[in-house]
Amino acid sequence: MKRLDGKRFAGIILNDLARRVEHWRQIKGRVPGLGILRAGDDPAGRMYVENKIKRAEQIGLKVFYRNLSENDEQALVRAVEDFNGHPDIDGFIVQLPLPAGWNTRSILEKIDPAKDADGFHPLNLGRLLTDDFDLMPATPAGISELLRHYKIPVAGKHVVIAGRSRIVGRPLAAVLAGRHPGGNATVTLLHSHTPEPEEYIHRADIFVSAVGIPHRWKAEMFKPGAVAVDVGINTLPGGKITGDIDPQGLEKVLSAYTPVPGGVGPMTVAMLLRNTLYLFEKRVAGKE
Ligand code: NAD
Repeated sequence: MKRLDGKRFAGIILNDLARRVEHWRQIKGRVPGLGILRAGDDPAGRMYVENKIKRAEQIGLKVFYRNLSENDEQALVRAVEDFNGHPDIDGFIVQLPLPAGWNTRSILEKIDPAKDADGFHPLNLGRLLTDDFDLMPATPAGISELLRHYKIPVAGKHVVIAGRSRIVGRPLAAVLAGRHPGGNATVTLLHSHTPEPEEYIHRADIFVSAVGIPHRWKAEMFKPGAVAVDVGINTLPGGKITGDIDPQGLEKVLSAYTPVPGGVGPMTVAMLLRNTLYLFEKRVAGKE
């Protein structure tokens, strides 16, 4: 069984991004700016944000970070408007999930689509349904790149995705089923209302799980030779991080597998930074 090492590949991508950032610093005297907005203080959100800041600074980006109160939705709206107009911020994200009861859709819609580094604005998500989109949400982009890097063919394959979130399952389904390089798969999308998901999983050439349930899927559910991509990040009592797929016995069944941690997670961060550089380059080019 091949280990699809997202940590290693993300490192290669980050080195390449760092070279491009340095190139822009030398010829324009400025580096891309990444904005990060967060509301509240849940520990998982803090960990994700700290990791994004660390990697962004490592490749030379300028980071603008604001952590707002979980009691003031309007303050976040004002911060989004501020970042939209900020000349040194080329792309920014609003870290999800937002505090319970907040209007996530309305807040994401206020982000300028030309600065939407996560690609969650409805305009950018909608463009994924066309075949000439240019910005992919980070996790689907990371999965697509990882499969390409390890030469795992997608075209003509049956891809089964468990989970239909706006940030993973649904955009990934659009990307993999689209008519473009890296697409052309036959995609089945499972969710919490799918009776007997195992019926689909055992027919998958490539299985992707983004359900957030530790060890929900077991080795005996997969077709021999299948590829499994585990997006889940679950914290067990005691603090250990684990995926949605139980690793036990996988090597006897699968041909390739993304570990948790060290698989999709690092790829997601690398793709967010690549999106930021892309938005910067579009702005710089647009001004010339
Ligand atoms: P979510 O948590 O918003 O929703 C879970 C999804 O799973 C829903 O669409 C639901 O319908 C589906 N689901 C639940 N039980 C199911 C079942 N038995 N069969 C099929 N589908 C089922 O989804 P999310 O935000 O995409 O997060 C999912 C997991 O992925 C979480 O563990 C999250 O931490 C992780 N995640 C990881 C990354 C990364 O970079 N590795 C990025 C985003 C999310």
